[in-house]
Amino acid sequence: MSESIDNLRRLFEEDLAAIDGMESWKAVRDKYLARESGVITTELKKLRDLPKEARPAFGQAMNQLRALVEKKLQERLDEAKAAEASTKLQRIDVTRPGFPFALGSIHPIKRLQSEIEQIFVSMGFQIFNLPEIERDYYNFEGLNMPRNHPARDAQDTFYFDDSVLLRTHCSSVQVHAMEELKPPIRAISTGKVYRRDPFDATHSPMFYQVDVIVIEEGITMGDLKGMLDVFLKRMFHSDIRMRLRPGFFPFVEPGAEVDISCIFCSGKGCPTCKQSGWVEILGAGMVHPKVLRMSGIDDSRYSGFAWGMGIDRVAILKHGVDDIRLFFENDLRFLRQF
Ligand SMILES: [Zn+2]
Repeated sequence: MSESIDNLRRLFEEDLAAIDGMESWKAVRDKYLARESGVITTELKKLRDLPKEARPAFGQAMNQLRALVEKKLQERLDEAKAAEASTKLQRIDVTRPGFPFALGSIHPIKRLQSEIEQIFVSMGFQIFNLPEIERDYYNFEGLNMPRNHPARDAQDTFYFDDSVLLRTHCSSVQVHAMEELKPPIRAISTGKVYRRDPFDATHSPMFYQVDVIVIEEGITMGDLKGMLDVFLKRMFHSDIRMRLRPGFFPFVEPGAEVDISCIFCSGKGCPTCKQSGWVEILGAGMVHPKVLRMSGIDDSRYSGFAWGMGIDRVAILKHGVDDIRLFFENDLRFLRQF
């Protein structure tokens, strides 16, 4: 009996040595260990034909054989896995160039917004991040535009209810800054504003603005002009020229429309500037005494200026884009040019 078990062991050793891959490993495993038809099960079935006294020794020998088969097969599998892992390692060529990642980029409007903020931070201004959902008081009333003021009509507004709206300009920074800070005040706010405008080449119901306010003793129109000159030269280029025309905004007195010499034709005349040589760029003025008083600033002691500009308008001019919608449609073919 032990002779036939020795024989089985030898056969198994031969089969084990002949394994050359996963398929043959599985075949050997099934040949010896399969539950119904495996060699070991089949041999064990012979147990009942043996004389009673021979059975325990045979059973024990077969169990030893099964343990040996299981152990050897497991060892073989571990070796194969280790070999495979080391082959994989050798295949990694660390000198190969890496796969290029498609990097995103900053949206041109956002980049311009942060450029503008940087210019003002470098001049000692404080940035106000203000809510886009605003109280009527900060957007209108505190800026000398009480209810039924005709100037409100020019800014067709999205209202939530009587007193809450989507801000129509960043000029709300004037009221917030004057309420929160004591003079001297140098504050700026940038961000999205909303108006019930159509969505066409020159209008958008959402666009970006920057608003600036300075309150100190003895501030004059000359300070306003000087600061605008510094800012516009840094924003565009150093030989840009500027002019102020009278303009009306309820929260400033006097108010001015500010033009710059056309950046495309340097003032000679071209289609962009409608042959005038000038392009309107922003609105400005001296903060209205009523606005100062409403925000608790002593208008007999302090004066100041404020101005606001469309950031999209600057982007259009700087990049020579003829349709504002391109900035908001998120077409990657357009955005990748910046
Ligand atoms: Zn021009």
